Parts: sequence; C-alpha cells; structure tokens
Amino acid sequence: MPSATTMVAGVAVATDHFINGRRVPSAERFENASPIDGSDLGSVAAGGKAEADMAVAAAKSAFPAWAALGPKGRLPILKRFADGILARAADIAAVETADNGSLLAGNLHRMVPRAAQNISFFAEWALGLNDHAIDHAEVVNNVRYDPAGVAALITPWNAPFMLTTWKVGPALAAGNTAVVKPPEWAPLSCSLMADIAHEAGVPPGVLNVLQGIGEEAGDALVNHPDLARISFTGSTDTAKIIGQAAARSITAMSSELGGKSPFIVCADADLDAAAQTVAGQYINAGQVCLAGTRIIVEAKIESAFLEKVRAAVGQMTVGDPRDPATRVGPLIHPDHFARVAGFVDRAKAGGAQLLWGGGRAAAGGLYFQPTMFAGVSLSDEISQKEVFGPVLTWQAFRDDAEAVAMANGTEYGLAGTLFCGDEARAMRIAEQVVAGTLWVNCFFVRDLSAPFGGSRISGIGREGGTHSFDFYCDIKNIAVRKGSFMAKGA
Ligand code: NAD
Repeated sequence: MPSATTMVAGVAVATDHFINGRRVPSAERFENASPIDGSDLGSVAAGGKAEADMAVAAAKSAFPAWAALGPKGRLPILKRFADGILARAADIAAVETADNGSLLAGNLHRMVPRAAQNISFFAEWALGLNDHAIDHAEVVNNVRYDPAGVAALITPWNAPFMLTTWKVGPALAAGNTAVVKPPEWAPLSCSLMADIAHEAGVPPGVLNVLQGIGEEAGDALVNHPDLARISFTGSTDTAKIIGQAAARSITAMSSELGGKSPFIVCADADLDAAAQTVAGQYINAGQVCLAGTRIIVEAKIESAFLEKVRAAVGQMTVGDPRDPATRVGPLIHPDHFARVAGFVDRAKAGGAQLLWGGGRAAAGGLYFQPTMFAGVSLSDEISQKEVFGPVLTWQAFRDDAEAVAMANGTEYGLAGTLFCGDEARAMRIAEQVVAGTLWVNCFFVRDLSAPFGGSRISGIGREGGTHSFDFYCDIKNIAVRKGSFMAKGA
C-alpha cells in the first residue's frame, strides 16, 4: 500500500509509521498545523498498542543481526546515514521549520549538520568501546560494552530531528535497535529520518518510527515489556509518568528534562558580549531547554547593563522563521501560547514589573513579544516554573554568595551561564552552581564528547561521549585470572 504523504515546503513527507522497513498506516490519524501561520500540514498516523507492539517486535527481531555486525560493520552504514542527512539538509530544515516554527537558518546551518554529526561521531566512538582492560593483582578485567536490545527513544517538539539523532546515534552505534516516538506537535522531520536511514542501508527493523499522541502511542511504547532502554527528552511531568512504566519493568531510563537556568553577569564581565547573549535567550521564542531564563546581574552595573540588554533585544526581529532576519519565531501551538500568556498574566497580576514585552507580538498569530520581568522574588511562580517561551526574569545580586543562592534557588539544574572577567572568581561561582552544564563567557557550546544532562528535576543520567554508551550498553566485566591459561605449546 503506498504511504500517505503530505507536501510541506515543497517536500513530500510520509505520514504513516515506519516499521520493519516499510510504511504502516493506522486507522486513527491526528491533525497537524504549522505554527508559522496555522496552515494545515496534513494528518499523521496515530498509533496505539497494536502499532507499538508491531514496532517493538520488528526492532526485537532485527536486533541479533545488527548487534552481530559489531561497531566496524555498522560504521559504513551509519556514515552513509549521516551523509544522507547532510544531502537532504535543505529538505529537513524546511520541514522542521514549517512543523515547529524554529528558525530556518538555524536548522540549516546548525541543527541539521549537528544531527549528521550525532550519527557519525558515535559510530566512530563505538570502534574503541571494547578496548578497555583494567589490571588487578589477580585478574585482568576486560570491560565490554555489549548492545542492550530495543531502545525506545522519545523526543519533544522544539528540536525533534536533532534531539532524536542525539539518541539514535549512540543507540544504533552500540548495536541496539530502536523505536522512535516523535512529538505530535512536530512529527514530520523524524519521518524523513526513517527514509534517509533506509536508503543508507540501515536494515529493516533497526530504526522504526511510531507516530502518535504521547498518552497513547508513547504510553503503549514505554509500557512494552520487551524494551531494554527508554531514553526520554521532554518535560519533568511526563518523565514522572514514563518513569513509573520503566520502574515496573526495571528498564533503564535516561531523562533530559526541563530547566529554569540562571544567567549570571558579574560587573567585570564583557558586558557587550553578555548583553548580546542575554538577547539570544529569546531565539526560537525561548523554546530552548537550555535557555538562561533568569538573568542575575551584579547590582553595581545593573542599570548600565539593563540598557545594553534593552538595546540588544530591540534589535531582535519577531516574525516568520523562514526570513533570515528573524530571531524570534512563533510559539509552537495555541495551547502553548495560552500557557505562556498565563504565566505572563499571573506575573503581572502578582505585581512583577514588566520591563518590556508582555503580550502578543505585532505579527499576530502565535508570535509573542520578548518579555522581561523585574521586581520578582525567587519564590514567585515566574522565577520557579519553566515557561518555555520568550519570558525572562531580572534580579540583582550584591555578592557572589547571593548570586549562587539565586542560581540554585529552583528545583531545576539543567544548565547555567556565567559572564565574568576574573578566572578565579568565575571558577569559584561555577563550581557552586548546581547544573549539568555551566557555560562561562559563552553559551550553547556543546562538545559531543562532553557529558550532558540535568541535575535535580532536570534529569537523570548523562549522555555524550562514553556517557551515552554507559547508558545504551550492557557493561560487562570478563575477569580472567592471570596465568590461568596454559601457554600454547607448553
Ligand atoms: P512533553 O513531555 O510533553 O513531550 C515529550 C515527548 O513525550 C513527546 O514525544 C510526547 O508525545 C511524549 N509523551 C507525552 N506523554 C507521554 C506518555 N505518557 N508516555 C510516553 N510518551 C509521552 O514535552 P514537550 O512539551 O514536547 O517538550 C518541552 C519540554 O522538553 C520542556 O520541558 C523542555 O525543557 C524539555 N526539553 C529538554 C531538553 C533537554 O535536553 N534537557 C531538550 C529539549 C526540550
């Protein structure tokens, strides 16, 4: 049966599931619209238990042969997969932008190349996985990273293509097979991923895409008894639900969750660079998990720095994310717009001082103004809860202890940013902030070999480099007594 397809930005995208190397329809479908202008992007298959069972069964039966290939056997296939992503960069970027409203230029020049790198980097890293031996007086410990089985990979809508490859790369490189569950508010780019993998020679069943609603398709997937791993990126609330399913079957789960990250600016910092970087927190309408949403400024430069930030934010064009001049695109969905507006309205009603923004942008639709609140206390909802929109708070600190207390004063611990001119001071502050990643005088620089993840309610586990394989592999120690084998010919 030919797959249902939709034309998006001139690109044909299959809207059925991709299971065992072929398209599989569902009786149920869900509607999908573009946040750019509300235009209809066509309906998408809505899977349930039957489709989840089919996808996991396909992944399970493909597992032994894929695992047996070993890292060397998988490398050329995964390299072709990475090359295929680059070859279709323009299509992927256009579809992602139409589907989730993220900036087209950012997708084309950063996210898609990074997605290709996610596949090739981990395929290469896997070559050296089983080279570790730990010497002990009595034994040699041969540490092996064995493939674990079927991995369920669940991703959110703000960067689904890149975030899914961040999981698919190490999962497949390690020899696992996978079922991807894309987000229902931006389901299309992962469908292209399935085609690209297939054309690159990834065998049927190794990478399956199960479309559908989180509480239906996602729920059926995470409750499947044949999973070896669940890797989830999304909200803390959803992680609590999925974590219960993982606990019931003792399935290892990694969670990369929300944030409410601090952005500390010291008086001796490069204030122009800091101001530009603060303005950059509004990119993609603030729908960035790592965004530094709580600006914490040293009191003695507060007013001077505020004017620099105000000027930098004034340069941010809000509008169509396909326009290269745009820095702030739309919010993803009317429900999310209402959620963001709710936070802003409650902050206003609670007496927070609106420095700029605060409502729908002139572009109309789902476009929200870059917004800044001062006069907030740490216990206020707007200081504590992840808004996931273009809404920042502004606080001043008098000494470093106060800055650290403010930075650590939420339940989250995903990331942090610090601008500071003194290295010793910067390191003292950085070491005290609770965060999976703390950027000093930079932002959003992510080395694939470095650990990435969240502390507190921002996540469990670390991925990146060998940390990804610590999660996706069954690590085994073959401890061999020294001198216990007869030498050959003895
Ligand atoms: P979400 O938790 O609502 O959904 C994420 C995914 O989970 C979607 O694919 C959804 O369909 C699925 N899902 C929902 N309910 C499910 C269930 N019961 N069982 C199985 N799957 C289910 O999150 P969202 O709104 O899509 O994304 C925004 C959140 O993601 C924010 O909190 C943001 O900070 C976070 N995020 C974190 C990172 C990170 O790396 N830490 C990166 C991007 C986004």
